[in-house]
Amino acid sequence: MEPIDKELVLSSKEIHDRIQELGKEIAEDYQGKQLVVIGVLKGAFVFMADLVRAIPLPLATDFIQVSSYGSGTSSSGQITLVASPAQPIADHHILLVEDIVDTGLTMRWLAKHFKEQGAASVRICSLIDKSERREHSVTIDYPGFSISEGFLIGYGLDYNEQYRNLPAIYHLNL
Ligand code: 5GP
Repeated sequence: MEPIDKELVLSSKEIHDRIQELGKEIAEDYQGKQLVVIGVLKGAFVFMADLVRAIPLPLATDFIQVSSYGSGTSSSGQITLVASPAQPIADHHILLVEDIVDTGLTMRWLAKHFKEQGAASVRICSLIDKSERREHSVTIDYPGFSISEGFLIGYGLDYNEQYRNLPAIYHLNL
């Protein structure tokens, strides 16, 4: 792997500590409910693994994968479903787990998708809320960190499929 120019934005400890807080909050809100935690592939797989272990409740896990086409800065971007979860959705409480919400297109589409499938409720947990390019209003019920701008890598976030395995989050200087 070639050396890259990167700056630390969130350390492993900061990420870990925030996830413990999120897990507690989620557990309080979902007590006695049929919770299905659905990670958005690929970027959320690292966060998802740590988050579910911080939620001391019975819960089911699954994943969904979508791809988006069109300009990332235009609201005309289109979402296509690549892989669907196998878990039943109707009448279940769905918690969508995302690595980063940027324009909001993906999360807006996914929230609508699960509501249309008859979910009892749909909430969003995103490790990072990146507001700079938001175009589609979306409520992030459980935000990890707010970061205004820049391209981030590590802890599941990639650059050309590399760097997902970095244990912390960095700003990539391109
Ligand atoms: P949205 O639909 O909100 O515009 O896009 C969300 C997706 O864009 C994320 O799941 C992620 O795959 C990608 N993305 C947005 N910002 C970043 C970033 O700073 N770094 C990386 N690696 N991916 C990003």
